[in-house]
Amino acid sequence: MRTQKNPLWITAVLSAATLLTVTGCASAETSQPKTSSATKTATATPTPTFDKTAHSIDDPSSIWVVSNKLRPLNPIDFRPANLSMPVGVENEFNHPLSEPAARAVEQIVAAAAAEGVSMHIISGFRDYGLQQGLYNKYVARDGQTAADTYSARPGHSEHQTGLAIDFDDHGNCYLNACFAETAAGKWLSANAAKFGFINRYPAGTESITGFQFEPWHYRYVGPELAAEMQRTGVNTLEQFFGLPNAPTYAN
Ligand SMILES: [Zn+2]
Repeated sequence: MRTQKNPLWITAVLSAATLLTVTGCASAETSQPKTSSATKTATATPTPTFDKTAHSIDDPSSIWVVSNKLRPLNPIDFRPANLSMPVGVENEFNHPLSEPAARAVEQIVAAAAAEGVSMHIISGFRDYGLQQGLYNKYVARDGQTAADTYSARPGHSEHQTGLAIDFDDHGNCYLNACFAETAAGKWLSANAAKFGFINRYPAGTESITGFQFEPWHYRYVGPELAAEMQRTGVNTLEQFFGLPNAPTYAN
């Protein structure tokens, strides 16, 4: 009995092994999803869902609007209807901000101050005409190619949405990359998301955003999107929303 059973058993094992060798990939592919979905059902916590269409990325009055060199504001001379002056914040040029950003900047500056970090607003909302004047001035001084790396053309500036803020700390890094190394720069980098802000032009993303590293330029997108970008490690709006890189203007 045993001498008859063993050869059969061995034959069966060998056949199974041969089958696995031949069809190894296919069987792995067909069996794996079943295993992993069974595991997920049993143990995994639900994946947090994030609705990327909750706000418009085209409407210039939306907190998620994506403005870059390939995405002019529409209308090009857009002016926010909800401009408001932040209260209790030093504001170099007394620029207003769109309502949610104005309230958020009051909170972020107060929170930083509570931790001994001082910061204030250089620039907030700049209208089409003001941006035109600035851009033309930079073009005259440095030439258009250079100006395009650090100053947005009118109708393409986030400042025209009222949702962008340039910060300073009265140190030696006014609108300079070294702001990233200041106490204010570090505090903003670590804490801005909680208040709904992102650094819009992070280091190393010039070929995506079209602008050099601007550690002083923060953009209000709301705490939900800021948190999701932080969670997923995607640090540009272009990449997060699957938009084309915008290194240069179309013309
Ligand atoms: Zn700015």
